[in-house]
Amino acid sequence: TDLKHIRNFSIVAHIDHGKSTLADRLIQETNTVSLRDMKEQMLDSMDIERERGITIKANTVRIEYKADDGETYVLNLIDTPGHVDFAYEVSRSMRAVEGSLLVVDSTQGVEAQTLANVYQAIDADHEIVPILNKIDLPASDCDRVAEQIEDVIGIDASGAIQVSAKTGQGIHETLEAIVAHLPAPKGDVDAPLKAMLVDSWYDAYLGVIVLIRVIDGKLKKGERIRMMSTNAVYPVDRVGVFTPAMKPVDELGPGEIGFLTASIKQVRDTRVGDTITHEKKGTTEALPGFKPSQPVVFCGLFPVDTAEFEDLRESIEKLALNDASFSYEMETSAALGFGFRCGFLGLLHLEVIRDRIEREYDIELITTAPSVIYHVFLKDGSMIELHNPADMPDPSTVDHIEEPRIKATILVPDDYLGDVLKLCQDRRGIQMDLTYAGSRAMVVYDLPLNEVVFDFYDRLKSVTKGYASFDYQMEGYREDFLVKMQILVNDEPVDALSTMVHRDRAQLRGRAMCEKLKDLIPRHMFKIPIQAAIGGKVIARETLSALRKDVTAKCYGGDATRKKKLLEKQKAGKKKMRQFGKVDIPQEAFISALKMD
Ligand code: GDP
Ligand code: MG
Repeated sequence: TDLKHIRNFSIVAHIDHGKSTLADRLIQETNTVSLRDMKEQMLDSMDIERERGITIKANTVRIEYKADDGETYVLNLIDTPGHVDFAYEVSRSMRAVEGSLLVVDSTQGVEAQTLANVYQAIDADHEIVPILNKIDLPASDCDRVAEQIEDVIGIDASGAIQVSAKTGQGIHETLEAIVAHLPAPKGDVDAPLKAMLVDSWYDAYLGVIVLIRVIDGKLKKGERIRMMSTNAVYPVDRVGVFTPAMKPVDELGPGEIGFLTASIKQVRDTRVGDTITHEKKGTTEALPGFKPSQPVVFCGLFPVDTAEFEDLRESIEKLALNDASFSYEMETSAALGFGFRCGFLGLLHLEVIRDRIEREYDIELITTAPSVIYHVFLKDGSMIELHNPADMPDPSTVDHIEEPRIKATILVPDDYLGDVLKLCQDRRGIQMDLTYAGSRAMVVYDLPLNEVVFDFYDRLKSVTKGYASFDYQMEGYREDFLVKMQILVNDEPVDALSTMVHRDRAQLRGRAMCEKLKDLIPRHMFKIPIQAAIGGKVIARETLSALRKDVTAKCYGGDATRKKKLLEKQKAGKKKMRQFGKVDIPQEAFISALKMD
C-alpha cells in the first residue's frame, strides 16, 4: 500500500467510555469480520479482560475502508490498555501511530484516565479526533462535554463527532474523519529497514509473535533481522497483518503495522520499543525513547497446599514467558514454606497474574502483603533495595529509609471532595493542587506509594460511590520515619504479615490488624495471644479466647450423614488454612488483615 492510503491510529479513553465497543463497530462497519464471527468486544481477548471490562494487552487490527472519495484506505488500529498499571504500554503503542480518536462518554465527561491517555497522545504528536460517545443515552450532554474537553484538555472540540457505538450512529462520520483528519505516515521504502517493536506475546503454535511498525524499508519472509538493543539475529519465518485474525502477507513496507515470527524462544528476548533492522546493511540509527518497564509492587505467592509448589513454579514460569514486566524469584518463609517473591507493574497487574494462576492452573494461593521497594541506607554508608519487609536489616544498623512517592491525579464530583481529601490525608498525602472543571474537582496529591498499593483504589471507589477516577505517576524517593511491624500469633512471628509502616501510624495499624486477625482466626482449644510489635516492643495486643469444650462435644453426636457433612466441611476448611506453630490461620486472613478501613 502506498503511504497516502494508510492511516494509523489508536483510541484513547477512560475505562468504560466505549473504546472496545467503538473498535468493534469500526471493524463491523468495514466488514473486516463477517457478522457471524463477530463476538462482542472482538479485541478484548482474555477472560479476565472481558469480565472486568478492561483491556490489558494492546491489540491490533487492520481495516480496509472504501471512503466517500472513492479511494480505499488501510486503517491500522492499535487498541491500547486502559489502566494506570499499563501506562508504559500505552506510551509505546502511541509512538507507533500518527493519530488518536479521543473517546469521551457524553453522559460522564472527562475522567482521570482520559487526561492521562490524551496527554500521552499529545506527547506523541498525534492529531486528535474527539468523539462524544453514548449519545443514545438520555443523560448524554454533548455541549457540556465538548466544552469540558476544551477547558480541561485544551484541544478544539467544535468538530467533535457525536457517536453511539451501540447503535452505530456516527460510525461512518468517524471513518471519514480518520481519513480526512489524521495524517498519512511518512517513510522511505528505499532506506535500510527500521521497524519498531511495539509488543510481543507467546502463542502456543507459532511461538513468540512480534507486533511491529515499519518506519523505513521493507521486511520480507526469509530475511534475517537484528534486534538493535541485544544484537540478537533471527531468520524471519512469517510476516503478516491482523484482520484481526493473523493473515500472512509477502512484505511489510513503510507505514505498515503487522507481525513477524522468527523462532524467538521467549517474550523476554524481545524488548518493547526496540528497533528491528536487517542483519546486513541495516540502519545504524535506533529509535529514541527505549526504556524497559520496571516492577514497582512486590508480594509473595505461596501455594496453600505445599505439595503444589512445583505446579506453582511451572505456572509462574509459563506466565513470565509471556510477560516481560513480571519478575519472580524463589522465596522461603518460615511460616509459609516455599513460594515466590514476585514483582508487578501495579496492583491490577498483580491481580491479573494471581487470578490466572488460580483459574488457569487451579492452584490456591496465599498472597502476602504487597510491598514497594524501599531504599534502606545503612550506617556503614551502603544502601540496599528492600523488596520484602521480612528482609529488613537490624534497625540498629539502619541510618534512614527512603520510600517511593507518586503524583496522583483524582477527578471527583464536588459532593465527594471532602471524603477524597480525608482519604488522601489519612494516607499521608500532601495536597499539591485543587482546581475545578464544572462541578468536578481535580485534586493532585503527592502520596507514598506504599499507602496506595494495597487498597487505595478500592477505598476511593467506595467513598465516592464509584464516581472518582484516578491516575498516578512515579515521582521518586523521599526519606520518612518507616519501621518494620511484625505480627505474632501465639507468640510466634508470622513473617508473611510483616509490613513497613510509618512510625506515627504504627500503633493504629497494629491495633487494626490484631482486631481483624482476632475475627479471622477460628478459636482453638487454647487461648491465643495476637500481637503487633516493632523491634521486640509490643504495640498492640488482642486475645482470642479458647473454645469451650461443650461446643465441640456437640459436633460428635447426631446421625451419620450429619457427621459426614461436618467432616467434609472441616476438610474444605482445612484446605484453606495454614498451620503456624499450633494455630490454623485461614488463607483469607493474610489479605483481609492488611486492609485498612
Ligand atoms: P472500554 O472500557 O472503553 O473499552 O468500554 P467498553 O467498550 O467496554 O464499553 C463500556 C460499556 O459501555 C459497555 O457496557 C458497553 O456496552 C457500553 N457502551 C459502549 N458504547 C456505548 C454507546 O454508544 N451507548 C450505550 N448505551 N452504551 C455503550
Ligand atoms: Mg475495553
